[in-house]
Amino acid sequence: MNEYADLLIIGAGPAGMSAALAAAPSGARIVMLDDNPLPGGQIWRDGPQANVPGPARRLRERLASCDNIRHHAGTRVIAAPGAKQLLVEDDDHGWLISYDKLILCTGARELLLPFPGWTLPGVTGAGGLQALIKAGLPVQNERVVIAGSGPLLLASAATAKQHGAQVQRIAEQASRSAVAGFAAQLPRWPGKWLQSFSLFDHHYRTATHVLAALGTDRVEGVRLQQQGNIVELECDRLACGFGLIANIQLGQALGCAIEDQAIAVDAWQASNRADHYAAGECTGFGGSELALVEGAIAGHAAVGNLQAARQLWPRRARWQGFAKALNSAFALDPRLKSLAQPDTLVCRCEDVPYAALTGHSDWREAKLASRCGMGACQGRVCGGAVQHLFGWQPSAPRPPFSPARIETLMSLDDTPPA
Ligand SMILES: Cc1cc2nc3c(=O)[nH]c(=O)nc-3n(C[C@H](O)[C@H](O)[C@H](O)COP(=O)(O)OP(=O)(O)OC[C@H]3O[C@@H](n4cnc5c(N)ncnc54)[C@H](O)[C@@H]3O)c2cc1C
Repeated sequence: MNEYADLLIIGAGPAGMSAALAAAPSGARIVMLDDNPLPGGQIWRDGPQANVPGPARRLRERLASCDNIRHHAGTRVIAAPGAKQLLVEDDDHGWLISYDKLILCTGARELLLPFPGWTLPGVTGAGGLQALIKAGLPVQNERVVIAGSGPLLLASAATAKQHGAQVQRIAEQASRSAVAGFAAQLPRWPGKWLQSFSLFDHHYRTATHVLAALGTDRVEGVRLQQQGNIVELECDRLACGFGLIANIQLGQALGCAIEDQAIAVDAWQASNRADHYAAGECTGFGGSELALVEGAIAGHAAVGNLQAARQLWPRRARWQGFAKALNSAFALDPRLKSLAQPDTLVCRCEDVPYAALTGHSDWREAKLASRCGMGACQGRVCGGAVQHLFGWQPSAPRPPFSPARIETLMSLDDTPPA
């Protein structure tokens, strides 16, 4: 089966939804695809225990009411076999989509850094724990410690508490002065300022980071460096996330330039590759408000409505200011690079310890010598970690970008080369 889109949007988070809605009045045939079952991305992830807010539900309703937007849920990109053509697959079959314009709205994922015990059952990412709870994980009466950096720690703690967990500690690695400086700027964005009051928790500690997860068969406690002292707490779950990293892999594979570990875009959200745009957190971390406005600019620009796109520049600049304040306040302390011990696994798919990676000069060399990044997650977890630990830029992925069925891959034989 072949499908054609005037505008293809990859990712149905805030940026992708907003891009589709901005482009829709042009009458263009729009296809939006996402590997999740419902539009919403990370922030408005659905599930049996999720409480998707009203504005997000209304965005979904508006999308559903546009006859020229087709949404493929649960759909993954497998390869880019031809010029302006992607091979995709859902649970039933694979097919080709050809497009005229493309907007990448692939979002971001958590940065997970290795530390002793981080592979024990019960240790997850901070956003990972939130996603598990939304998907139905019961945490009633469980003792939870949340550690790492950034506002996602507070959002994750709020979700855990709503579902009956006892949050013992929220360990923020940034210094007290950095967090206080950020809080002092929040009145510039009143919605965020109000939200900060609802998220405040008296278990929050700045200048505190994880040293080790403790336990034998699963996590039983955590050792923290807390404001100069070492403390140990018992817990049933440890959720640890060190901020977000942009999902650039598909952009890299399509030949889009990367800058500061994100897809580089101009004022129209256009990448260096003609007719290829990017918006939201694949272009850098900045929160859902920035993702929404960037998505709208990309959507307008992709269908040629430059005037409407330009009108949104001031709003984008306002949220870029928020992103700048956020990224500078929660910059990672270089000391976090020394959490991993020689025997700490960095690549948990292929059991590669830290010691097997030291001494190599780049990602490719380390990969060939150790199999780091060659397992099931294809470097989605350890790639971010080695970039942080050693400064190695993971290379562009090669197809298949996701595990795929043989029948889907066989259809590549019928595709003329790009
Ligand atoms: C785990 C996690 C939890 C978060 N929780 C919160 C929160 O509670 N509150 C908050 O304010 N912010 C949260 N954030 C930050 C939040 O991601 C952003 O502010 C906002 O969702 C960014 O919107 P986006 O559209 O750029 O990307 P996203 O929301 O990340 O959406 C991108 C979408 O694209 C899909 N996708 C990516 N690549 C492909 C592909 N190749 N094929 C198909 N689909 C693809 C993803 O599955 C996702 O649905 C969270 C981030 C993460 C990583």
